[in-house]
Amino acid sequence: MNVSDLPSPICWILFQVLLQAQKELLTYSDTGISVLGEGNIPDNYQVMFLQGGGSGQFSGVPLNLIGLKEGRCADYLVTGTWSAKAAKEAEKYGKVNVVHPKLDSYTKIPDSSSWTLNPSASYVYYCCNETVHGVEFNFVPETNGVVLVSDMSSNFLSRPVDVSKFGLIYAGAQKNVGCAGVTVVIVREDLIGHALKECPIVLDYKVQVENNSMYNTPPCFSIYIMGLVMEWIKNSGGSAAMETLNRKKSSTIYDIINASNGFYVCPVEEACRSRMNVPFRVGKKEGDEGLEKKFLDRASKRGMISLKGHRSVGGMRASLYNAVTVEEAEALADFMKEFQKEHQ
Ligand code: PMP
Repeated sequence: MNVSDLPSPICWILFQVLLQAQKELLTYSDTGISVLGEGNIPDNYQVMFLQGGGSGQFSGVPLNLIGLKEGRCADYLVTGTWSAKAAKEAEKYGKVNVVHPKLDSYTKIPDSSSWTLNPSASYVYYCCNETVHGVEFNFVPETNGVVLVSDMSSNFLSRPVDVSKFGLIYAGAQKNVGCAGVTVVIVREDLIGHALKECPIVLDYKVQVENNSMYNTPPCFSIYIMGLVMEWIKNSGGSAAMETLNRKKSSTIYDIINASNGFYVCPVEEACRSRMNVPFRVGKKEGDEGLEKKFLDRASKRGMISLKGHRSVGGMRASLYNAVTVEEAEALADFMKEFQKEHQ
C-alpha cells in the first residue's frame, strides 16, 4: 500500500504507527522473543498473523496439510459445533475420518480407548475448547506420531501449552487475545510447503511465512491490539497466571451449579467442563423458559450482559475469558445464589 491509496494525512500517520506496531510483533516472533505467552514456542515453529478468522483455518488446515501423506485423509474429533464445522469443510479436500462414535449431544469427550485413529492420516484435528457447548480438553490427545492440529480459538493463552506436542495450533484473536480480524497460526516448519495446488494464495502457509504474514495487507489495528493484550498477559504473570485465575473463576460458577440441587444444570460431564465457557440451564434440566428470561433480565439490570446461551443450544452461557476478573465471576455467583433463593 502507498500514500496515494490513503484518503487523508491523518490516515497515513495512523497507518505508519500501526505498521510499526505490527513490525515489532512480527520481529518478536522472528527472533523467538515472542510476545506470545512467555515465548514458549520452539525455534522450529513459525508464527503467522492471518485474516479469515477461525473459519478461514477450517479450510487452511486441510488445504495445507491433508496432502502431507498419500491418500489425503485426516482424523477428526468432533466434540461440538466448531470441530463439526471444521470436519465438514475438510471433506471438500480429502477423506475425513471421525475417530469416535458420533455423539448424540455435545456434552462429553468420548473415552480415548474408543477412538480409531488411522496411522496413515495426514493429521489428527480437535477443538481444544468448544465455545458453544462448553467442552474443553484438559489433556493433549495421543496420536502415535501423527501430526496433531488444534483449534484453540477460545482458550488460547488461558493456560500454558506445550507447543512441541503440536504440528499446528491456531486461534482467532477475538476471545482471549484481542479483537476480531486476526488469527494466530503457529506451525511446525516441516509442515510448511505441502499445500494443495488449489489452495488460495492468502491461505498458503509457505507464501505467508516467506512474506512475514504480509503477502496481503495485514489487519494492522487488530494485530496492534493483540500485541497490547499479549503484553498485558505477560505483565500479569503469563499463561500460568491466567490458568490460576481461570480455574478460580470457573470453579466459582460450577460450585454454585453443583450445589443448587438441580436448580441450575450444566449438561457437560465434569471431566471436560470448560474453564472458558460455562453453559447452564435455569429451573430444570431442559430449562424453564420463563425463569431463564427473568434470569437474563435481572442479570442485565445488574450490568451482567451476554449471558444468553448460543441460539443453537439455548439456556445460559457464562464466558469467562482472560478479560473477565475473579470479582466479576464472584458477582455472577452471588447473583445466581440470590436468584435461586427467590425462585425455587
Ligand atoms: N473456532 C472456535 C473454537 C470458535 O469459538 C470460533 C468462533 N467463535 C471459530 C472457530 C470461528 O471463528 P471466526 O468467527 O473467527 O471465523
